[in-house]
Amino acid sequence: MASLSLSDNPVLVLYVGGTIGMVETTRGLAPGPDFSCRLRAALARLPLARQASLPDFVVRESAQPIDSSGATPADWQRLGSEIAGCLAEHAGVVVLHGTDTLAWSASSLAFQLQGLDRPVVITGAMRPLGADGSDALDNVELALRFAAQPLLQEVAVAFDGRLLRGVCSRKFGGREAFVAPHYPPLGERVADDAVLFPARLLTTQQRGAPRFELADYAGLANGDVVRLTLWPGIQAWQLEAWLADERVKGALLEVWGGGNAPEDPTLLGVLARASGEGKLLAAVSQCPGSSVALGRYAAGLGLAEAGVLSGDAMTPEAAYTKLVHLLAQPLDDAERRRRFLTPLVGER
Ligand code: ASP
Repeated sequence: MASLSLSDNPVLVLYVGGTIGMVETTRGLAPGPDFSCRLRAALARLPLARQASLPDFVVRESAQPIDSSGATPADWQRLGSEIAGCLAEHAGVVVLHGTDTLAWSASSLAFQLQGLDRPVVITGAMRPLGADGSDALDNVELALRFAAQPLLQEVAVAFDGRLLRGVCSRKFGGREAFVAPHYPPLGERVADDAVLFPARLLTTQQRGAPRFELADYAGLANGDVVRLTLWPGIQAWQLEAWLADERVKGALLEVWGGGNAPEDPTLLGVLARASGEGKLLAAVSQCPGSSVALGRYAAGLGLAEAGVLSGDAMTPEAAYTKLVHLLAQPLDDAERRRRFLTPLVGER
């Protein structure tokens, strides 16, 4: 069991939006003001022993907190830069985020903040802070406890008593809200303690030297990387309608089972033409929990021959944000393809 170790620097809590800080309005739930005061007041109602064992923290509220359903790669970039810019003064960072696209932001942050040497823990809530039966306080408390543990040196999601690798996380129904289909939890709540499982954390070798890659995502924030899910009967002209557009720089394909697609030469031709034009194409499975190995079946070989990269067991969120991350950097096509296939932060 890893012991709790509080650094001298406070944990930074960044509130960027989401249900956790929302209030009822005439148009439904929307981000509300004074989140910092509301959070401190709520934490002050915890039993004294629990309050006393929380790390010191400061809260910073985003000037315009958002519903995360409106987030774009430009928001991921802003968040990555903000965290990178203030990490040195904090033992760790807790990001309070809407759950709808939390796994996307977590995945993107993992690629931007490679070589992280302290915790960045993202959480949110299924019900607003202060609402009956809200999970907000439990999640914030858990995130704060994990964010004060120097052993954790990666981006993680704390939710419903568990800590998941951020780049392996996905939103799921129910109060549990997040799962990591291919990687076991990095930690969990045991009584009032936040316990890490050190053998599951990114190793120094996996993390490498701190080398934040704060690329400019703005050019890709308007849908330049597309996400396409196959359906039985999909036609080449439909794929072409997306991929032939010159604004499209990359595509994530969600294919069948272990990496299969229709053996339709016209459809495969559309993919081959797009990758021949330098578009970065990758495939993951649309079957939750499946891993893609293009070419295991004849029905998947055509994808590999068309230049589509295998996403292995990566989540769609990880594969998509990795495509954005690689396309935003001044790399040549061969280097982008090489990096896509290389595990960077435990995503594959
Ligand atoms: N729509 C909200 C958001 O993602 C949902 C949530 O926070 O649970 O911002």
